[in-house]
Amino acid sequence: MSKLGKVWLVGAGPGDPGLFTRKGREVLAKADVIVYDRLVNPGILLAARPGVLWIDAGKTPRGKRMEQGEIHRNLIRYARKGMRVVRCKGGDPFVFGRGGEEAEALWKAKIPFEVVSGVTAGIAAPAYAGIPVTQRGVSTELSFRLGSRAEGSVHGKTLVGYMSVEVLEEFLQAARDRGFSSQTPAAIVQQGTTHCQKVVIGTVRNLAALAKKSQIRPPAVVVVGDVVNLRKNLQWWEKRKLAGKRIVLTGSEQLGQGWREVLEEHGAEVWEIPMGTIEAIPPQPSWRAKIRRANWLVFTSAAAARLFPTIVGDWRLLGGCKFAAVGKMNAKVLSSIGIEADWIGRGPGSRELAEGWPKWATGKVLHLTGSAGDGSFVQRLRKKGVQAERLVVYRNTAHRSIQRPVQEALRREGADWVVFASGSAAVRFRKVMPKGVGKMKVLAIGPATARTAKSVGWRVKSIATEPSAMGVLRAILKAT
Ligand code: SAH
Repeated sequence: MSKLGKVWLVGAGPGDPGLFTRKGREVLAKADVIVYDRLVNPGILLAARPGVLWIDAGKTPRGKRMEQGEIHRNLIRYARKGMRVVRCKGGDPFVFGRGGEEAEALWKAKIPFEVVSGVTAGIAAPAYAGIPVTQRGVSTELSFRLGSRAEGSVHGKTLVGYMSVEVLEEFLQAARDRGFSSQTPAAIVQQGTTHCQKVVIGTVRNLAALAKKSQIRPPAVVVVGDVVNLRKNLQWWEKRKLAGKRIVLTGSEQLGQGWREVLEEHGAEVWEIPMGTIEAIPPQPSWRAKIRRANWLVFTSAAAARLFPTIVGDWRLLGGCKFAAVGKMNAKVLSSIGIEADWIGRGPGSRELAEGWPKWATGKVLHLTGSAGDGSFVQRLRKKGVQAERLVVYRNTAHRSIQRPVQEALRREGADWVVFASGSAAVRFRKVMPKGVGKMKVLAIGPATARTAKSVGWRVKSIATEPSAMGVLRAILKAT
């Protein structure tokens, strides 16, 4: 049987593509199947990759709207084939969008799903018309009401309370005064959508007591209405393995390579904090001669491998030149530019590559590296009698500070994990967080990074077996 897919119920926002969320874009870009509505601005759908299967739920070949049951069957069918299905709806999927029904159908079919909230039209359209939907001294209540008559005869209502934790008793009394019975289900959601999300469920009668017992504190919203019962089946946030975890990723070139997305997909809240920038040095005329003379070109960073086509300029310079990569991941990057490494270090770092340099790899070695490198690789080879030279092809710039609110929050609240994607990130992060990070565990991307991290005072809890998104994910899951 193929692996089970997943469905994302995504809110496309009210129309302005700028109001589509970052998360929405990312899941859309990875989708195999996209089921979209008439209300979705097609400009948003430009984020999808070529070759995706499009299903228009707005109309069937006969020109009618697709029946709700058929939408459900489509979502389920493709997810069962192991595909990533995005159900893209205007505004927010859970506001008059039948997203809740789709979620129920998925729950019944045991298909995992996630909700990606969108900006609802009821708030954004007035805002774009210059109308704030609430205003101090003018309005203390906002209702969204369905105008359509097609929805059957139910008259249920939902009441959502903002700024109500400290006055919960009074708020629930006000709900009673407006006709909600004491038995009506009620929920309180503290720090919703963050890694600290906490939910307490009760009724209008007992929610205040339950919230007190669970030490609920602001910020939180209260929800009163029969819709609260749906949570029993539709809760999805808690199901992901890293739900409730905050993970800080620090590095430079490693960031932006999909690590954040992988961790987020497993439910973590991820903060990417780059500790450096990599900037290509424009190829110099002198490089040509050096490359032409070399018998071996050695790569110890993804950046050098990625920049190589620009560095070499003219592939004919290479002749019979051979290539060495520091490890498997590095060889993968080389492979992505069309070069298969002739020698791959047994890892983890450049020290091991130099120590294990094979006897048959004779001739002149040219190490393509960044300005932060200390030249130790070349020195080690020279000690072994190998002719080696270093060529600096990019500049590493260190970041000496991080955003103050980020620094303060990390000191105060900490994070569950801090991941060092390189030794230099560990050193630089120490400088911006000299007193450390509140509560946290340190994950180093490999043994060399772990050594450097320890040398500047970090206590390393775990080491990834592979310097990749999956390596980080596996190590964290194992240690959690
Ligand atoms: N899930 C959507 C609502 C779907 S119901 C949301 O959260 O916004 C469809 C209704 O939404 C439309 O009939 C219209 O009343 C409203 N709507 C959607 N997009 C709108 C827009 N750009 N401007 C004004 N109203 C809009």
